[in-house]
Amino acid sequence: MSKLYVVSAPSGTGKTTLNNRLMTDFPSIEIAISHTTRKRRNGEVDGASYHFVTKEYFQTMVRHGEMLEWAEVFGNLYGTSKREIDRIFAKKHHVLLEIDVQGCQSIVRGKPEAVTIFILPPSIESLWHRLEQRGTDKLDDRWRRLMTAKEEVEAGNVYEHFIINADVERAYAELKSVVVDGKHSSVSHNEGVTHCESLIKEFNTSPFLQDLKKKFDGN
Ligand code: 5GP
Repeated sequence: MSKLYVVSAPSGTGKTTLNNRLMTDFPSIEIAISHTTRKRRNGEVDGASYHFVTKEYFQTMVRHGEMLEWAEVFGNLYGTSKREIDRIFAKKHHVLLEIDVQGCQSIVRGKPEAVTIFILPPSIESLWHRLEQRGTDKLDDRWRRLMTAKEEVEAGNVYEHFIINADVERAYAELKSVVVDGKHSSVSHNEGVTHCESLIKEFNTSPFLQDLKKKFDGN
Protein backbone atom coordinates (compact mmCIF):
# COMPACT_ATOMS: atom_id res chain seq x y z
CA MET A 1 0.00 0.00 0.00
CA SER A 2 1.20 3.51 -0.81
CA LYS A 3 2.54 5.44 2.16
CA LEU A 4 2.91 9.10 2.91
CA TYR A 5 6.19 10.41 4.30
CA VAL A 6 6.84 13.94 5.49
CA VAL A 7 10.46 15.04 5.56
CA SER A 8 11.20 18.48 6.99
CA ALA A 9 14.42 20.20 7.89
CA PRO A 10 15.61 23.71 8.55
CA SER A 11 16.85 25.27 5.32
CA GLY A 12 20.47 24.21 4.65
CA THR A 13 20.34 20.93 6.57
CA GLY A 14 20.87 18.80 3.46
CA LYS A 15 17.31 17.51 3.06
CA THR A 16 17.15 17.88 -0.73
CA THR A 17 20.40 15.99 -1.27
CA LEU A 18 19.21 13.12 0.94
CA ASN A 19 15.71 12.97 -0.57
CA ASN A 20 16.95 13.10 -4.16
CA ARG A 21 19.32 10.25 -3.46
CA LEU A 22 16.47 8.22 -1.98
CA MET A 23 14.32 8.82 -5.06
CA THR A 24 17.13 7.78 -7.40
CA ASP A 25 17.83 4.58 -5.46
CA PHE A 26 14.15 3.73 -4.94
CA PRO A 27 12.01 4.78 -7.93
CA SER A 28 8.81 3.77 -6.15
CA ILE A 29 9.30 6.77 -3.83
CA GLU A 30 8.32 10.09 -5.40
CA ILE A 31 8.69 13.60 -4.07
CA ALA A 32 5.42 15.47 -4.51
CA ILE A 33 5.95 18.62 -6.57
CA SER A 34 4.61 21.58 -4.62
CA HIS A 35 3.12 24.79 -5.90
CA THR A 36 4.85 28.00 -4.88
CA THR A 37 4.61 31.72 -5.44
CA ARG A 38 8.35 32.19 -4.89
CA LYS A 39 10.55 33.18 -7.81
CA ARG A 40 12.37 30.46 -9.70
CA ARG A 41 16.04 30.17 -8.76
CA ASN A 42 18.77 29.51 -11.30
CA GLY A 43 18.71 25.88 -12.37
CA GLU A 44 15.15 25.24 -11.15
CA VAL A 45 12.70 23.83 -13.67
CA ASP A 46 8.99 24.69 -13.65
CA GLY A 47 6.93 21.53 -13.18
CA ALA A 48 9.92 19.60 -11.81
CA SER A 49 11.36 21.62 -8.91
CA TYR A 50 8.03 23.30 -8.20
CA HIS A 51 4.97 24.48 -10.06
CA PHE A 52 5.76 28.20 -10.05
CA VAL A 53 2.50 30.14 -9.96
CA THR A 54 1.21 33.61 -9.17
CA LYS A 55 -0.26 34.50 -5.82
CA GLU A 56 -3.72 34.87 -7.43
CA TYR A 57 -3.50 31.37 -8.98
CA PHE A 58 -2.36 29.88 -5.66
CA GLN A 59 -5.13 31.59 -3.70
CA THR A 60 -7.73 30.35 -6.19
CA MET A 61 -6.47 26.78 -5.68
CA VAL A 62 -6.82 27.25 -1.91
CA ARG A 63 -10.34 28.68 -2.28
CA HIS A 64 -11.36 25.72 -4.46
CA GLY A 65 -10.12 23.26 -1.84
CA GLU A 66 -7.39 21.89 -4.11
CA MET A 67 -4.61 22.00 -1.49
CA LEU A 68 -3.96 19.18 0.95
CA GLU A 69 -1.90 21.65 2.99
CA TRP A 70 -0.27 25.00 2.43
CA ALA A 71 1.79 27.54 4.37
CA GLU A 72 3.56 30.84 4.09
CA VAL A 73 7.33 30.39 4.33
CA PHE A 74 9.87 33.24 3.98
CA GLY A 75 7.08 35.50 2.70
CA ASN A 76 6.03 33.12 -0.11
CA LEU A 77 3.18 30.62 -0.36
CA TYR A 78 3.92 26.91 -0.70
CA GLY A 79 1.43 24.07 -0.91
CA THR A 80 0.85 20.43 -1.78
CA SER A 81 -2.06 19.85 -4.14
CA LYS A 82 -4.41 16.90 -3.64
CA ARG A 83 -4.07 16.18 -7.35
CA GLU A 84 -0.29 15.65 -6.99
CA ILE A 85 -0.79 13.09 -4.22
CA ASP A 86 -3.49 11.29 -6.25
CA ARG A 87 -1.16 11.22 -9.28
CA ILE A 88 1.55 9.43 -7.28
CA PHE A 89 -0.81 7.10 -5.40
CA ALA A 90 -2.41 6.11 -8.75
CA LYS A 91 0.98 4.62 -9.71
CA LYS A 92 1.02 2.76 -6.38
CA HIS A 93 4.13 4.74 -5.46
CA HIS A 94 4.98 6.18 -2.06
CA VAL A 95 4.77 9.95 -1.58
CA LEU A 96 7.47 11.98 0.07
CA LEU A 97 6.48 15.50 1.09
CA GLU A 98 9.38 17.92 1.43
CA ILE A 99 7.48 20.51 3.41
CA ASP A 100 7.95 22.81 6.37
CA VAL A 101 6.88 22.31 9.98
CA GLN A 102 3.53 24.10 9.54
CA GLY A 103 2.76 21.78 6.60
CA CYS A 104 3.70 18.76 8.70
CA GLN A 105 1.38 19.91 11.49
CA SER A 106 -1.59 20.06 9.11
CA ILE A 107 -0.72 16.70 7.52
CA VAL A 108 -0.55 15.05 10.95
CA ARG A 109 -4.01 16.47 11.78
CA GLY A 110 -5.57 15.21 8.53
CA LYS A 111 -3.55 12.06 7.92
CA PRO A 112 -2.23 10.71 11.25
CA GLU A 113 -0.88 7.60 9.48
CA ALA A 114 1.79 9.73 7.75
CA VAL A 115 5.38 8.93 8.77
CA THR A 116 7.11 12.14 9.83
CA ILE A 117 10.85 12.74 9.82
CA PHE A 118 12.78 15.81 10.99
CA ILE A 119 16.34 16.23 9.76
CA LEU A 120 18.42 18.41 12.06
CA PRO A 121 21.86 19.97 11.87
CA PRO A 122 24.37 18.97 14.55
CA SER A 123 24.54 22.63 15.62
CA ILE A 124 23.19 26.03 14.57
CA GLU A 125 26.68 27.31 13.92
CA SER A 126 27.25 24.46 11.43
CA LEU A 127 23.91 25.33 9.78
CA TRP A 128 25.02 28.93 9.33
CA HIS A 129 28.25 27.75 7.67
CA ARG A 130 26.36 25.37 5.39
CA LEU A 131 24.06 28.18 4.26
CA GLU A 132 27.17 30.25 3.63
CA GLN A 133 28.79 27.51 1.54
CA ARG A 134 25.61 26.91 -0.46
CA GLY A 135 25.93 30.51 -1.60
CA THR A 136 22.34 30.76 -2.92
CA ASP A 137 21.10 33.33 -0.41
CA LYS A 138 22.11 36.87 0.39
CA LEU A 139 23.42 37.58 3.88
CA ASP A 140 20.18 38.90 5.36
CA ASP A 141 18.24 36.03 3.71
CA ARG A 142 20.57 33.61 5.44
CA TRP A 143 19.83 35.29 8.75
CA ARG A 144 16.09 35.04 8.02
CA ARG A 145 16.49 31.33 7.27
CA LEU A 146 18.35 30.88 10.55
CA MET A 147 15.57 32.65 12.48
CA THR A 148 12.98 30.45 10.76
CA ALA A 149 15.10 27.43 11.69
CA LYS A 150 14.72 28.46 15.32
CA GLU A 151 10.92 28.54 15.03
CA GLU A 152 10.93 25.17 13.25
CA VAL A 153 13.13 23.53 15.85
CA GLU A 154 10.85 24.91 18.58
CA ALA A 155 7.98 22.94 17.00
CA GLY A 156 10.17 19.84 16.53
CA ASN A 157 8.25 17.56 18.91
CA VAL A 158 5.52 17.10 16.27
CA TYR A 159 7.85 14.66 14.45
CA GLU A 160 8.10 10.95 15.08
CA HIS A 161 11.61 10.34 13.70
CA PHE A 162 14.73 12.50 13.99
CA ILE A 163 17.90 12.34 11.93
CA ILE A 164 20.93 14.43 12.87
CA ASN A 165 22.87 15.17 9.71
CA ALA A 166 26.45 15.35 10.95
CA ASP A 167 27.64 12.95 8.28
CA VAL A 168 25.77 12.58 5.00
CA GLU A 169 26.39 8.82 4.61
CA ARG A 170 25.11 8.07 8.08
CA ALA A 171 22.15 10.38 7.64
CA TYR A 172 21.24 8.67 4.37
CA ALA A 173 21.48 5.22 5.99
CA GLU A 174 19.09 6.46 8.71
CA LEU A 175 16.63 7.89 6.20
CA LYS A 176 16.67 4.63 4.24
CA SER A 177 16.12 2.59 7.36
CA VAL A 178 13.01 4.64 8.28
CA VAL A 179 11.48 4.95 4.80
CA VAL A 180 12.55 1.72 3.13
CA ASP A 181 12.86 -0.70 6.05
CA GLY A 182 10.11 0.81 8.20
CA LYS A 183 12.39 0.93 11.26
CA HIS A 184 12.62 3.62 13.91
CA SER A 185 15.50 6.07 13.51
CA SER A 186 18.41 5.42 15.88
CA VAL A 187 17.62 8.74 17.62
CA SER A 188 14.63 8.18 19.90
CA HIS A 189 11.80 10.70 20.05
CA ASN A 190 13.06 11.95 23.44
CA GLU A 191 16.63 12.28 22.18
CA GLY A 192 15.36 14.16 19.13
CA VAL A 193 13.39 16.59 21.28
CA THR A 194 16.41 17.03 23.55
CA HIS A 195 18.58 17.82 20.52
CA CYS A 196 15.99 20.43 19.44
CA GLU A 197 16.20 21.96 22.93
CA SER A 198 20.00 22.10 22.76
CA LEU A 199 19.81 23.86 19.37
CA ILE A 200 17.46 26.47 20.86
CA LYS A 201 19.82 26.92 23.79
CA GLU A 202 22.67 27.44 21.32
CA PHE A 203 20.63 30.15 19.60
CA ASN A 204 20.31 31.97 22.89
CA THR A 205 23.80 31.51 24.32
CA SER A 206 26.43 30.97 21.60
CA PRO A 207 28.73 34.03 21.39
CA PHE A 208 28.99 33.53 17.62
CA LEU A 209 25.21 33.69 17.20
CA GLN A 210 24.87 36.54 19.70
CA ASP A 211 27.30 38.57 17.55
CA LEU A 212 25.27 37.80 14.43
CA LYS A 213 22.08 38.74 16.26
CA LYS A 214 23.55 42.15 17.19
CA LYS A 215 24.50 42.71 13.57
CA PHE A 216 21.05 41.91 12.16
CA ASP A 217 18.66 42.85 14.96
CA GLY A 218 20.79 45.60 16.48
CA ASN A 219 20.39 44.20 20.00
P1 5GP B 1 12.72 26.69 -0.69
O1 5GP B 1 12.24 28.06 -1.03
O2 5GP B 1 14.10 26.72 -0.07
O3 5GP B 1 12.64 25.73 -1.85
O4 5GP B 1 11.76 26.10 0.41
C1 5GP B 1 11.50 26.83 1.56
C2 5GP B 1 10.71 25.99 2.56
O5 5GP B 1 9.39 25.72 2.05
C3 5GP B 1 11.32 24.64 2.89
O6 5GP B 1 11.27 24.47 4.30
C4 5GP B 1 10.40 23.66 2.21
O7 5GP B 1 10.38 22.42 2.86
C5 5GP B 1 9.06 24.37 2.32
N1 5GP B 1 8.09 23.86 1.35
C6 5GP B 1 8.30 23.51 0.07
N2 5GP B 1 7.17 23.07 -0.49
C7 5GP B 1 6.22 23.13 0.47
C8 5GP B 1 4.82 22.79 0.51
O8 5GP B 1 4.23 22.33 -0.45
N3 5GP B 1 4.19 22.99 1.69
C9 5GP B 1 4.80 23.50 2.79
N4 5GP B 1 4.09 23.65 3.90
N5 5GP B 1 6.11 23.84 2.79
C10 5GP B 1 6.80 23.64 1.64
